Amino acid sequence: MVITRTREELYKTLEEFSKRPGKLALIPTMGNLHDGHLSLIKLAKLKATKTITSIFVNPLQFGINEDFKKYPRTEKLDIEKLKKEHCDILFIPSSGEEVFSKIEKVKTLDSGNLGSELCGKIRPGHFDGVLTVVNRLFELINPDIAVFGAKDYQQQILIKQMAKLLHPKISLVKAPIIRSKNGVALSSRNNYLSKKEFEIAANLFKCLQNSVNSYHKRKELNEILDNANSFLISKNLVPDYFELRDSELNIISKNNFKGNKVFLGSITINNIRLIDNIEF
Ligand code: AMP
Repeated sequence: MVITRTREELYKTLEEFSKRPGKLALIPTMGNLHDGHLSLIKLAKLKATKTITSIFVNPLQFGINEDFKKYPRTEKLDIEKLKKEHCDILFIPSSGEEVFSKIEKVKTLDSGNLGSELCGKIRPGHFDGVLTVVNRLFELINPDIAVFGAKDYQQQILIKQMAKLLHPKISLVKAPIIRSKNGVALSSRNNYLSKKEFEIAANLFKCLQNSVNSYHKRKELNEILDNANSFLISKNLVPDYFELRDSELNIISKNNFKGNKVFLGSITINNIRLIDNIEF
């Protein structure tokens, strides 16, 4: 695996790899790689002959009171894991300036109305920061394919909308959610949880499953959502939101919506926010 830390090294490596046949797939991450991330690389390898993973803890997507400083950084382990997956290139910028020339002068992209709903309501500006960095990575790397996880459902929809406008040639691939044995979606933020909290957190997935079952049994949507919120609170999980949307995240008002839809939930446990969803 070729490790690139500057824009110059990245460009040089991409130039070399452009001589090889086949497509290039990008997997953007913030590092602290777990099996969820590695599943994206495995999927990328089925779609493309060349893979590039980026590891960049993007300051633009963290609010002032969020965990940018303490976000887990595990470079050595990450490199070992990427080598095992036979990732071809790693872009791990040595500073923000290798991504954005002057980070304090970056003009952020606007994530619009959807960017201020669901997670965006709780994390103002978060999705503007996400879109800005992903757009920049697309500009720097110009991949044929980019892979994103369904765990961050809203992020993946907003990136799809942005790419359709600004990078129509890049195909986006959505990778399924990888979970731990108890059902909790793998996430770097799970590291912040105690063993007991991790077990309690499994109730978010349970709640999503129960809600899907109730929907299939034609229960009233309002009742399903009320029950979900009461269930989460009874388990000491503080719901930030719990909603049913269509698969493009438009609000569903009808109970018998026929198309693909998704229950999405965000909870806080001991000041740690976890998200999950089930599409059906
Ligand atoms: P992050 O490092 O948290 O920014 O995540 C990088 C990518 O990995 C994003 O596309 C995430 O949606 C994806 N990802 C994170 N956790 C999981 C998971 N449990 N299953 C599948 N994809 C995931």
